[in-house]
Amino acid sequence: MAYRVGMISLGCPKNQVDAEIMMAALERENFEIVDYFNGADAVIINTCGFIDDAKKEAIDNILSAVELKKEGIVKKVIVTGCLAQRYQSEILDEIPEVDAILGIGTNAEIPILVRKVIDGEQLLSFPPNCSLPLNGKRVLTTPEYWAYLKIADGCSNRCTYCTIPSIRGDFRSREMQDILDEAQQLALSGVKELIVIAQDTTSYGIDLYGELKLPELLNALCEIDGIEWIRLLYCYPDRVTDELLEVMSSQPKVVHYIDLPLQHIDDKILTAMNRRGSSEEIKTLIEKMREKIPDIVIRTTFITGFPGEGEEEFETLAEFINKTEFDRLGCFVFSPQEGTPANDMPDQIEDSVKTRRSEVIMQDQYEIVSVKNNERIGKTFRVLVEEYDGYTDSYVGRTYMDAPEIDGLVKFTCSRELNEGDFVDVKIFSQLDYDLLGEVIE
Ligand code: SF4
Repeated sequence: MAYRVGMISLGCPKNQVDAEIMMAALERENFEIVDYFNGADAVIINTCGFIDDAKKEAIDNILSAVELKKEGIVKKVIVTGCLAQRYQSEILDEIPEVDAILGIGTNAEIPILVRKVIDGEQLLSFPPNCSLPLNGKRVLTTPEYWAYLKIADGCSNRCTYCTIPSIRGDFRSREMQDILDEAQQLALSGVKELIVIAQDTTSYGIDLYGELKLPELLNALCEIDGIEWIRLLYCYPDRVTDELLEVMSSQPKVVHYIDLPLQHIDDKILTAMNRRGSSEEIKTLIEKMREKIPDIVIRTTFITGFPGEGEEEFETLAEFINKTEFDRLGCFVFSPQEGTPANDMPDQIEDSVKTRRSEVIMQDQYEIVSVKNNERIGKTFRVLVEEYDGYTDSYVGRTYMDAPEIDGLVKFTCSRELNEGDFVDVKIFSQLDYDLLGEVIE
């Protein structure tokens, strides 16, 4: 009889792909992956652990699973992912009911280790993080018409607030042919949108080929039949080259969307964060991108309350955001993490001040988006149909301006029946918060 295993994957899409690879490995070894945990032999919590909110979510999920174990609903609780890698046996000290803590380097051995745990062993295993498998068959957890394509793992940048390099190791690119083979398989399975991810997508190839290879990879991905949209997430400003912009502007399949975390704009803070690139270089890049690709949609993220961020530095950031008018923006409050240089920096900012600053940023951004959405009224956009809403007899979808799970949506009506994964042309007639409202034009 097959052992039944449940998987909860938390955090970023890179961690999600790791979970998909683990689930496929388990299925290959005759485990049954179950959505409903009642009677599961084991539950795997694939955790995130890079900032406090993520750690809290991971601990909450572990404690819920332990409760299920106490109630006899599940037999074993296994913790994998970044929190496991970062804190290792400390988790067991805090939550002794857990049956295994497995570092990211164990992902390739998951079937063997899970079987050992179900057979009664309590395990702690932390092989080198570089043994994390970057490729392998996956059980997709995204809708069948779009998928993440992870092209590398780890990070060799050293932002002073970030724990990711210490958790996932240095940057490791996948072989290009291996990525293309996977993309081909995804296309054959019905995937139309590929979302290209890594901790630093723009560094692709620098380690393996000694040069930046993302433009070449994108050109090759565009050759794959069936793929209609290719979207870039997690780009590092100073590696957004002219060559990359040329590919983005000339290849119709590469959507005019870029996720470009900037974190701050004040030069004193950028230096303290150990971010490459000055405020002038960042501003020049944004001008260049908008000149080269006039309809480019820029998503970015900022951190408020970094040590040393006085009112003046914060004003610099707020002014920049209001002047630049990003299409999509997220804002984190600085979360000091032990083991990072920023954790020990002087001039730490009070939590209430950090939070107030991020609220100011997000309020400004809300107004910027509503003005931009107003300008989109009357225009027609190609929309990827995501679901039908029977309650309002309408559909929900995304334009090229919307990455899944983080950006806005389009809610629209259509006189004929549509399928998820279809592309339709939608004329926008209104907006609601971050979303657009429209109707299909035949
Ligand atoms: S680029 Fe910086 S913030 Fe991003 S994963 Fe690397 S070190 Fe962390």
